[in-house]
Amino acid sequence: MDLILFGMQGSGKGTVGKALAEKFNTEYFETGAVLRRLANQDSELGQKVKSIIEAGHLVSNEVVMEIVEDFMKNTEENKAIIFDGIPRSVEQAKTLNALLDKYDRDYKAVLLKIVEETALKRLTTRKICKDCKEVYPAYYKKEECEKCGGELFTRADDNPTAIKTRLKAFKKETIPAMEIYKDKLIEIDGEPSIDEVRKIAYKTLAPIMET
Ligand code: AMP
Repeated sequence: MDLILFGMQGSGKGTVGKALAEKFNTEYFETGAVLRRLANQDSELGQKVKSIIEAGHLVSNEVVMEIVEDFMKNTEENKAIIFDGIPRSVEQAKTLNALLDKYDRDYKAVLLKIVEETALKRLTTRKICKDCKEVYPAYYKKEECEKCGGELFTRADDNPTAIKTRLKAFKKETIPAMEIYKDKLIEIDGEPSIDEVRKIAYKTLAPIMET
């Protein structure tokens, strides 16, 4: 069973998503991370993607959907995929659903639910490891990553202007996309601590992921 993860920026979607992929032994498609890798390339496309991401805007559908299809095509039929960061618009939802049908994949959607105030607080204070990309909340006071010793930094798009643009896009574009999945949507409270949310997510999703 594939899972399509939804959640406002800062909902813990990436952290919980990766933990779920490990727990249930699935592939993990993290759209933002794939695009950031592309943005690090010295190509014309890479540089274009970089400036779009840094401004907090969305990368074009053609680029995003091509990358997703490539991933799906290269995933074994019996291996589940957790999608993080896709779809972000109604148009992407339609294309993604067409691809899921094309590759004969069964799926559910999951929402990690938080309010905007929580999103703002978490995004303006979080730090990320330069090397392994582990995310650290404000209460983590060390300068380096607990997992790999890498240096911690603030993401270029975690500035107040880009955050506002990203949250606006979530409301305007992603919430309508989520509506398309309302019959397949499982809601999980994303407000508690990340450890707590992870536990709730394991328990809620085990019945459909461990069959
Ligand atoms: P994220 O790490 O999910 O916050 O994504 C970081 C940035 O990558 C976003 O602000 C967008 O610029 C870009 N991005 C991620 N997912 C998508 C998507 N599905 N469609 C278009 N752009 C995306």
